[in-house]
Amino acid sequence: MTPSHASSPDPTVQPVPASVVRQVDAADSTLHNPHRAVLSLGSNLGNRLDTLQGAIDALEDTPGVRVKAVSPVYETEPWGVDPGSQPTYFNAVVLLKTTLPPASLLERAQAIEEAYRRVRDTRWGPRTLDVDIISYQGVTSADPALTLPHPRVHERAFVLVPWHDVDPDAEVPGHGEVASLLDGITERGVTPRPDLTLVLPD
Ligand code: AMP
Repeated sequence: MTPSHASSPDPTVQPVPASVVRQVDAADSTLHNPHRAVLSLGSNLGNRLDTLQGAIDALEDTPGVRVKAVSPVYETEPWGVDPGSQPTYFNAVVLLKTTLPPASLLERAQAIEEAYRRVRDTRWGPRTLDVDIISYQGVTSADPALTLPHPRVHERAFVLVPWHDVDPDAEVPGHGEVASLLDGITERGVTPRPDLTLVLPD
C-alpha cells in the first residue's frame, strides 16, 4: 500500500523520523534578495554520513549560500541497477537560500562532488557524492546542462520523501504538490534512519 501524505493521518504510516533541523537566524540579512533552492544529496561509497555532512558544511561555507533546513537521513536502494549490485545510498534533502544564479549553484555543487572524488565512469555507477539541484525558485528550464526542476524528481521517492519531511507544502514546478506525488508512487526501498542525524553548521 502506498501511504497517503495529502489526506488525514493513516495509522499504518511510519512517523517522520528523528528531528527535522531548521535554522532561523539572522543570516538572511547577509543575503540580499535571496532565492530558494532545494538540493538532493546522495552517497553510496565510503563514509556516507560524513560525506553528506561534509557537503552540507561546504554549501554553508559558500558565499551567497545559506543552508536553511536539513532533512532526516534515509537509506535507499540504488535506482536503475540490479538489486544488490551496489551498496545502498544515504540520501537527504537540503533547503537553501542563495543569491547565486542557478548555473553558479550547479558549478558549486559539482565542485563539492569533485572534492569527494565522485566516480563518473558509469551513469548509474556508485558515487561518493551526488548533488542535484531539485528546484530553484520555481524556475523551469529544459537545458540538459541544468534541467529545472530536476527531470526525474517527481518519480523519485528518495528525493520526495525527505523533501516532504522538511517542507510539507513543497511543490515540484509543473508536477504539483510533493504530498500528492508521494501518494502516487511507492516508498519501498526508502528506509528512515532516525539513528543518524545531519546537522546545520553553526
Ligand atoms: P548525474 O550524473 O545524474 O548527477 O548528472 C550530472 C549531469 O546532469 C551534469 O552534466 C549536469 O550538468 C546535468 N544536470 C542537468 N540538470 C541538473 C540538475 N537539476 N542538477 C544537477 N545536475 C543536472
